[in-house]
Amino acid sequence: MAAKIIDGKAIAEEIRGELARELEELKSQGIEPGIATLLVGDNFGAKMYRGAVEKFCGEMGFNYREETHPEDVSEQDVIAIVNSLNQDAQISGILPLRPFPEHISDSAVINSISVDKDIDCFHPFNMGKLALGEPTFPPATPSACIELMERYMTGEGIDPKDGFEGAEICVVGHSNIVGKPVSFLCLNRNATTTTAHVFTSQKGNLEKHTTTADYLIVAAGVPNLVNADQVKEGAVVIDVGINRVIVCPECQTYNRGKKSPCRQCAADLTDAPSKTVGDVNFDQVKEKAKAITPVPGGVGSVTNMMLAKNTLRAARLLAER
Ligand code: NAD
Repeated sequence: MAAKIIDGKAIAEEIRGELARELEELKSQGIEPGIATLLVGDNFGAKMYRGAVEKFCGEMGFNYREETHPEDVSEQDVIAIVNSLNQDAQISGILPLRPFPEHISDSAVINSISVDKDIDCFHPFNMGKLALGEPTFPPATPSACIELMERYMTGEGIDPKDGFEGAEICVVGHSNIVGKPVSFLCLNRNATTTTAHVFTSQKGNLEKHTTTADYLIVAAGVPNLVNADQVKEGAVVIDVGINRVIVCPECQTYNRGKKSPCRQCAADLTDAPSKTVGDVNFDQVKEKAKAITPVPGGVGSVTNMMLAKNTLRAARLLAER
């Protein structure tokens, strides 16, 4: 039987409704949540994310502050900007948009953000609290994975409070942004959690771990890394990957760019269409899994709502200071 498609867009809308009520209540108490982005230089991805945060703040009814500075600004000046945002009562959350230019240390900037305004859990203090099982701001993308799993459980009549206990969860990816924190969130819910990564794959052991997982979370940034052979029959699959690929018109192979011929059949890719895909071979895996998130329309749709949730929490913390 084909898998249930876990509809991230619909879940995001549900959460948006819940948060709108919370926001209304905060505003009635005179509390106005606001996010500041910090961008240095003109990295394309960081600029795209900045625009997306501004749009999202508008949609959510949050205040937005743009701090965009030229490539040659000094590290000292960037830290001074962060310090002024830390003191600013209009700003509840600060989002550093990386990468920064080479002369600016990531950790120097992140360590200067107030731990109460660190809404995507970059600061080592907040990462430490996450590891201890008492996060103030569980990071947005890992939380989106958990939210999707919990809402799926509820829909299946499983109580998410103990639905993780006894479950085998395999996380593929061990980055500080997604893989490690989502592993902590699963472990904190008492799941038997395995974290596999590129070195697991290189030693030929990936399948050994993924095929025993009741819940498989994949965050590797590798299109089609997981196909039906890597998935247990009846597993729930959460695909975090977002990959822009060029689809070969001759053999349908995914390629990374249009400049080289197709890596499979050497066809010319100049006019080939591009597409956004995850890390999981959706068409294959949906025939074997019990449930699966699509890309787009899965984890990515819920991520912003988790950031919004943290922003409301930060606004409350600021008001209580
Ligand atoms: P990253 O490059 O920092 O880390 C990738 C991880 O995947 C590493 O830990 C690496 O060990 C592992 N990996 C790489 N190749 C592998 C292989 N062949 N086998 C097993 N593991 C392998 O990436 P990231 O920031 O963690 O992001 C991962 C993916 O999630 C990317 O596609 C990214 O675009 C996507 N992402 C999505 C959201 C969202 O909101 N949906 C947010 C952040 C990242």
